Amino acid sequence: MMLGKYSIGVGDRFAHQGVAQLRAIMKANESGLEISPVWNKSNREHIYVHTHPADVRKEADAAVATLGYTGKYFVDADHINLSTVAPFVETADFFTLDVAAFIGKPSAEADVKAFVASCEKYMGELAIPGIEKPLHVTKELLEEIASKFLAATQQAAEIYKFLIENKGTGNFVTEVSMDEVETPQTPIDLLFILKMLADKKVPAQTIAPKFTGRFNKGVDYRGDLVQFAKEFEEDVLVIDYAVKEFGLPEELKLSVHSGSDKFSIYPIMAEVIKKYDKGLHLKTAGTTWLEEVIGLAVAGGEGLELAKKIYANSYNRKDELCAPYADVIDIDTSKLPSIDEVNNWTSEKYTNTLRHIPGQPDYNPNFRQLIHVAYKVAAEMGETYTGLLEKYTDIIGKCVEENIYDRHLKRLFNL
Ligand SMILES: [Zn+2]
Repeated sequence: MMLGKYSIGVGDRFAHQGVAQLRAIMKANESGLEISPVWNKSNREHIYVHTHPADVRKEADAAVATLGYTGKYFVDADHINLSTVAPFVETADFFTLDVAAFIGKPSAEADVKAFVASCEKYMGELAIPGIEKPLHVTKELLEEIASKFLAATQQAAEIYKFLIENKGTGNFVTEVSMDEVETPQTPIDLLFILKMLADKKVPAQTIAPKFTGRFNKGVDYRGDLVQFAKEFEEDVLVIDYAVKEFGLPEELKLSVHSGSDKFSIYPIMAEVIKKYDKGLHLKTAGTTWLEEVIGLAVAGGEGLELAKKIYANSYNRKDELCAPYADVIDIDTSKLPSIDEVNNWTSEKYTNTLRHIPGQPDYNPNFRQLIHVAYKVAAEMGETYTGLLEKYTDIIGKCVEENIYDRHLKRLFNL
C-alpha cells in the first residue's frame, strides 16, 4: 500500500468534521496537486473522547462518499505501541509505530557490536550527495547511536511483525515515530536509525523524527529557523541516500508531527521538498477541534455561551488538563484572561483571541494552547457539545475548511 507523495494528517477529535476537512484538501487538489488525506487519531484521544478506532474509519468513508472523492485516503492508528495496537488492526491502514519510549533502553552488547561492525564502510568522512560537508562517522559515534536507538528500532520491528501477522503484508502503510522526546535526532542519527530499520526489515514509508525547536500544540514553531532549515534539508538528503543505500521503500519520506500550525516553517519545508522533488507527510491534530470552538463562538447565542463554558472549565482545571501535554505546551498563566473577563466577550473578541492569525492584536497563544489540550472538557459535555456541533454544522464546517485550506495548505503548497 502506497501513500502518495503528499499527504496530510488531519485529526478530528469528535469525528464531525471529516467532510469539511476533505473539502479543504479537494480544493487544494483542484490546482493539480494530489494530497492524500489521512485521518489520524491516537489511543489517548480515543480514551478521552470515548470513541473507538472504527469510528474514524466510518467518518473517513462517509466523508469520501459524501463528496465523491476518488483519490487515496487513509486511517492512521496514531502513536500506537505493542500494548495499544490491537483495537486498530481491523479499521486502520496506516500505523504510526511510536517507539520513542524505547530510545536509550539497553541492547545486548553483542547487538551493538554487530551493528557497529556492519557500518564499517560508512566510517570516516561519509559524503552524502547534496550535503555540503561530509558526515564525520567514528566508531564511538556509532556505538553511541546504537546504544541509543537499537532497542527502539527493535521495538518497531516487533510491532511491524505483529501487524504483518494480524493485518497481512501490503495492507498498510508503516510510519515509525520518535518525535515525542526532548532531544532532537540529528541527520546522522536519522541515517543510522534508517539503517537499523532496514536491517530489521521494517519497510518504513514515513519517519517522524524529533526536529530541533519547540512544537507546541496549536501554535507556531519556536526555535532557530536557520537551524531548522539546515536540519530539515539534511534529513531529506539523508533519506534519499538511505533509500538507495539500504534498500528502504522508494517512497520513504519525512513525517512532520507538527502539533498543528507551525506556519513559520511551512515555507521552509515547501522550498526544500520542491528543490529536491520529494514528498512530505504533515500531521496536524487539534487544529480542527479549535475551529469547532471558534465556530461555536462565531454562531453566537448558545454557541458562544458554550465556548465560554469550555474556557471556564478549562481554566479551572488547567493543571489536570495540561499535565499529559507538559512537554508540548508553554502556557504563561499570567496571560490567561479571567473567566469573568471572557464571559463578557463578544463573538468577535472570543474568535480573534482563539483563531491563529499571526499579527491579530487579540490573538493569545496561551489561551489557544489551553483550549487545545481541553478537548476532554467538551467530551464530558457529551451531547450538549456534539448537539451544537450538529446544529451549527455549516458555520463550523466553514471554519474548519478555511483553516485547513487557507492557513495550512496554502502556506505549505504555495497555493
Ligand atoms: Zn507525534
